[in-house]
Amino acid sequence: MRVCVLGAGVVGLTSAYQLARDGHDVTILEGRDGAALEASFANGGQLSYSYVAPLADPSVLPHLPAWLLQNDSALRFVPRLDPRQWRWCLSFLLACRGGRARQTAVEMLRLGALSREALHELVQRESIDFNYVRNGKLVVYRDANAFDAARRKMDFLQAAGSEQRALDAAACVALEPALEHARPLLAGGIHTPSEEAGDCHRFSVALAGVLNTRYGVAIHYETPVHSFVTERGAALAVRTPRGEIRADAFVVALGNGSAPLLHALGMRLPMYPLTGYSLTIPVAPGHAPRVSVTDLHRKVVYAPLGERLRIAGMVEIAGMDVTRRDRRLDLLKRQAQEIFPAAGNYAAAQTWCGHRPATPDSKPLIGSTRYRNLWLNTGHGALGFTLACGSARLIADAIAGRAPPLEPGAYAWPR
Ligand SMILES: Cc1cc2nc3c(=O)[nH]c(=O)nc-3n(C[C@H](O)[C@H](O)[C@H](O)COP(=O)(O)OP(=O)(O)OC[C@H]3O[C@@H](n4cnc5c(N)ncnc54)[C@H](O)[C@@H]3O)c2cc1C
Repeated sequence: MRVCVLGAGVVGLTSAYQLARDGHDVTILEGRDGAALEASFANGGQLSYSYVAPLADPSVLPHLPAWLLQNDSALRFVPRLDPRQWRWCLSFLLACRGGRARQTAVEMLRLGALSREALHELVQRESIDFNYVRNGKLVVYRDANAFDAARRKMDFLQAAGSEQRALDAAACVALEPALEHARPLLAGGIHTPSEEAGDCHRFSVALAGVLNTRYGVAIHYETPVHSFVTERGAALAVRTPRGEIRADAFVVALGNGSAPLLHALGMRLPMYPLTGYSLTIPVAPGHAPRVSVTDLHRKVVYAPLGERLRIAGMVEIAGMDVTRRDRRLDLLKRQAQEIFPAAGNYAAAQTWCGHRPATPDSKPLIGSTRYRNLWLNTGHGALGFTLACGSARLIADAIAGRAPPLEPGAYAWPR
């Protein structure tokens, strides 16, 4: 079958990989002039299979006033005259209900486990280089109450198969000596040895190369998709500046471009861009963390990527507006220097601002649509790198009509 994958971010590329391995004739269409130049470019680098709990959780509700009022809050809401923003926020609040949030967390853990298995298989088969490390993750807490709550949550994750242990401040520093300077700030940490990290952009570029050279996948860059040609409940082609491109099936993996494109077909995907920021600094050997660290108080993640350290964080519900970019990046730099002052050359930091293609309940949208050959694989929010390989398996199974390894209805849209 001729399958056209729309989007060459990490989700489109991994989808194309599974589809090509199934023997389909795959083409990728991408608006930018290279792979993974949007949300997949300089993200936090975490392959964080055990930390996939949704942002929408009852515990965020008491923090809402701070989001609205504090300029330096990790999570910020900037109101806009945009009904999409308000609809998204309302759905987000509904998703915070206890029962629903717990069910979502279980479904995300299952997709995380499938994604880990699928990524391991891909890495073994294709041996691609993307600063991939199985280095474990240490989530550190500054507040004793928050640390206690996290310890209680460990039971839940351990029941789901995640090996974890709680460490006091001294044990955190023994595990990750680069935390020495931050020791007085720490109440403790939770260590998950099985977590991984890597460079999502390098992964995507390498995978694009593998797709092209080993699997014969054609990747057309600088080919924005403007609209669909449809007939009798099926998509026939997409309209692009290169003309109409026909296929037997289409997979929409356009990240933040998904909702605008499908709006014209009467589909209102519940997605909104959540802005975040990252810094990439050259490391000072011996002073930068080798374990992935999350400073939960600041909601900042640190991932070692070879000779570089990726520092990422912040969530802004502000649309595609980036007018606060410089101020937010300065704040991120100060927060990083507070915990890892000697990690590397902060003056040489490469800065980035990206937009997570997020759904209100944090679950991606994977599966069929009202058009029989038009499929969705989008809306991966803060976890697209982590969940890409499992999501790709699910969409390839759905297109092949194969029984999936886990209940696909959990990720279907509409929910
Ligand atoms: C600050 C930050 C930190 C993050 N940290 C992590 C992390 O540590 N771990 C993790 O798992 N995830 C993380 N994420 C989330 C992750 O980066 C995203 O979920 C993921 O990159 C989404 O991939 P995607 O392929 O769906 O979207 P994208 O990478 O945005 O790809 C979509 C592609 O579609 C193209 N496109 C859009 N519209 C059109 C059109 N009309 N025609 C043609 N092409 C089009 C775009 O150019 C783009 O290349 C982070 C995100 C941010 C912003």
